[in-house]
Amino acid sequence: MVYIVGAGPGDPELITVKGQRLLKEADVIIYAGSLVNPALLDYAKPECEIYNSASMTLGEVIETITAAEQEGKMTVRLHTGDPAIYGAIQEQMDELSRRNIEYTVVPGVSSFLATAAALKQEYTLPEISQTVIITRNEGRTPVPEKEKLKSLASHQATMCIFLSVHMISDVVEQLIEGGYDKTTPIAIVQKASWPEQKIVRGTLETIADIVKENNISRTAMIVVGKCLDTEYAKSRLYAPDFSHMYRQGTDK
Ligand code: SAH
Repeated sequence: MVYIVGAGPGDPELITVKGQRLLKEADVIIYAGSLVNPALLDYAKPECEIYNSASMTLGEVIETITAAEQEGKMTVRLHTGDPAIYGAIQEQMDELSRRNIEYTVVPGVSSFLATAAALKQEYTLPEISQTVIITRNEGRTPVPEKEKLKSLASHQATMCIFLSVHMISDVVEQLIEGGYDKTTPIAIVQKASWPEQKIVRGTLETIADIVKENNISRTAMIVVGKCLDTEYAKSRLYAPDFSHMYRQGTDK
């Protein structure tokens, strides 16, 4: 059996209980070494075979899993955050299916949520934004035309931008061209939930310089939107005059 497991954003306690159990039981672990916290490998049995996929091709990953399967071993394929977000797992799953190898996906805490926790910030504030856009700037991986940052910026929703901090000047330029005001607040969290976590804040106008001054060039989340500093309407859910299925309000 193969488990594709979300490792969480870095803090080894932010893996799910199920993910931790599977790491303890695994005969083979293949982890995404560029981002997964190696401290998670401490959960492995002493005899567990451990591979860092950072230096492997897709073919080598699949061959390693296939060989383990043939020996009746259990494999954990450990991906950072949640595997469904920029995890490149679809091609692995399709290849496993072609080989009739069964697999299960175990979700994880994505880094955009660990970033919200680090910022102590709700992304969905009433009357400010009720939408979170998860995206990235175009790099070596192309982004479909309709999803360019400039187009997405027209919504002025809360945006969580992955994989792009090294292109911060270009990101900011597109966001402003797309419609965000220059004074819109923006925050960058590097290595959210790791001991070396770093937070910087600014506006679209100031952030590029702040990022450079702080030498932040990788493993960082960009969050932009008015939610980061504004007056907002309180949620109706906890308002005294609001009735719902579980509470009788003063409106009734
Ligand atoms: N599947 C992962 C994302 C992998 S893509 C997830 O769900 O989080 C890698 C990008 O994720 C990085 O370039 C960075 O933008 C972001 N990232 C991963 N870990 C992070 C962390 N601890 N703090 C901030 N951003 C992180």
